[in-house]
Amino acid sequence: MSNLIFEKGNFGREGVSVPAAAKPKKDIYSSIPDTFLAKKNYDFPYLSELDVIRHYVNLSRLNFSIDTNFYPLGSCTMKYNPKINEELSSMKGFVNLHPYQDQEDIQGALYIIHDLEKMLCEITGMNRFSFQPSAGAHGELTGMLMIRAYHCAKNNKKTKVIVPDSSHGTNPASAAMCGYEIVQIKSNENGLVDISELKKNIDKETAAVMLTNPNTLGLFEEEIKEIADISHAKGALLYYDGANLNALLGITNPALMGFDVMHINLHKTFATPHGGGGPGSGPVGVTKELIEFLPVPLVDKKDNQFYFNYDFPRSIGKVKAFYGNFLVLVKAYIYILSVGGLGLKEISENAVLNANYLKENLKKYFDLPYDKICMHETVFSAARQKQENDISALDIAKRLIDYGIHPPTVYFPLIVKEALMIEPTETESKETLDNFIEVMKKIYAESKTNPQLLKEAPHNTPVRRLNEVKAAMDLDLRWNPQKPFDNHR
Ligand SMILES: *Cc1c(COP(=O)(O)O)cnc(C)c1O
Repeated sequence: MSNLIFEKGNFGREGVSVPAAAKPKKDIYSSIPDTFLAKKNYDFPYLSELDVIRHYVNLSRLNFSIDTNFYPLGSCTMKYNPKINEELSSMKGFVNLHPYQDQEDIQGALYIIHDLEKMLCEITGMNRFSFQPSAGAHGELTGMLMIRAYHCAKNNKKTKVIVPDSSHGTNPASAAMCGYEIVQIKSNENGLVDISELKKNIDKETAAVMLTNPNTLGLFEEEIKEIADISHAKGALLYYDGANLNALLGITNPALMGFDVMHINLHKTFATPHGGGGPGSGPVGVTKELIEFLPVPLVDKKDNQFYFNYDFPRSIGKVKAFYGNFLVLVKAYIYILSVGGLGLKEISENAVLNANYLKENLKKYFDLPYDKICMHETVFSAARQKQENDISALDIAKRLIDYGIHPPTVYFPLIVKEALMIEPTETESKETLDNFIEVMKKIYAESKTNPQLLKEAPHNTPVRRLNEVKAAMDLDLRWNPQKPFDNHR
């Protein structure tokens, strides 16, 4: 590992020279609470500009990214993000917007929000969208809050939310945060919602059924119409987790399937680089019945002027300051405009084709628990490797790093043992997919001939296997100098 920047440089070396600060009048300090005042003279490292540039450029090269390598991380849709989105969304008129600017001054920005809302309505079949939620899980929470408001307004006594056992972990978490009891239903032998299980568990107190389609196994819920009918007959709403719309764009939509409320991850399906914790955007969409509950403000148009419309007395209120992550909206807008309607459909066709190509070519080597045509992703199991050579999904994932490929999602969905969830996305070429297939075949062979090699992987990274839990549970990001800056003197 390279040294921290604090451990580099040498006393007296200079990057930029700043003129000495004028001595401030004492009363400037008197307004600052004592706890915030520095008690000692902090010593910073002495580095030249070149030291600093090399340090950060080399750090950036340790990053794995979609711009450098293949990234088949299932459920995350790590597609390539065209650079034109970055370029246009960093125009001064966008980045210098202030949320308290007069509405007359920001007509262009409001136009984009208004037009993007129309596009998302057309893509999903929903009637209105709010762009407030800043991520998928945040959209789910917002959607569930609206469902609760809807039932409260109707005096419906609702206490439960149904989720399938294949659902994304954020689904039950979001429903539980709204005070609902979670009822989990088992999938059938085809990896789909078991209709008889649904019928057994749904009743008059069910507020909603939360689903995604294609589900997290990458399979299309063929009986979605019946699921919707069963739910609606009990007065339950159908919530669509649209984090990954990559398989449906321009082909079908959640409204046609009978969904009432949904969110979309603009940062997975459309274009915004993600994976490092943000920024994201998880707009929520609803059918007519739920418009009045959307978070305010919505953007509407009157007398040829766009304006923030707060006139929704039953709105659940705000879930984020102002109007959400605007620059992510700009990127999604540019992306949709630049590919166009037919382009969106091609995205889905190619995403599905690519996933099926990998599935067909790899199923001789790795178990495929649900062997049928998949949508935008496919889920293998390393259960056989585990049993025969004690090689886990994690070992395979780590070995892929040695071959310059990002590991797929592992151990999700929970219903597949030693799951390897692979999503190639539409932006990868056949050559890249073929290389991945070859690498997976090599790893398959290694698992038999040299399992130790896999167990010790990765071999060519700056750090090897890290504790998977400690980094999140035992956060320690502060550097404590051993000796106070002795190396600089
Ligand atoms: C990513 C994802 C989410 C959550 O989205 P975030 O933006 O990470 O909060 C929810 N559901 C599914 C199926 C997802 O893939």
